[in-house]
Amino acid sequence: MSERTVSKVIGKPDDLNLELFQAIVSGAHMCLQQCGNCGRYSHPPRMYCGNCFSGDYSYPEISGAGTVYSYTISRHTAEPAWQDELPYLTVVVELDEGPRVVGAATLPDPATVKIGQRVHVVPEKRTDDFAYFTVVFDTDGAS
Ligand SMILES: [Zn+2]
Repeated sequence: MSERTVSKVIGKPDDLNLELFQAIVSGAHMCLQQCGNCGRYSHPPRMYCGNCFSGDYSYPEISGAGTVYSYTISRHTAEPAWQDELPYLTVVVELDEGPRVVGAATLPDPATVKIGQRVHVVPEKRTDDFAYFTVVFDTDGAS
């Protein structure tokens, strides 16, 4: 009998999402799409800027700093690969650049999470084309 290993689902982004994830993974740093004309950040990435309609964009590094916009605590899961992480948090982070991203986090006590709490989104490489977004809670107590 062999023990069956269960792996988490690995995303396979394409088009603009692939460009974003390749920028993130190659630099091992959080990145966002930024308009080359007006400077606005977008997530998910888009062909044309939602502000000025320019098709000129790049994926510069950002700090990943932001605040908790929303979250949910998962105490049960139908996904075997996540069983060992229960309870875990799914967090919507409003990055300081404006866009919101979704990431996962673990905390000793998930009930201590607060809207507006300061966090950092850190990419966790899974393949050359994909990374999880891990949410790390700032320890300075600022909110
Ligand atoms: Zn623009």
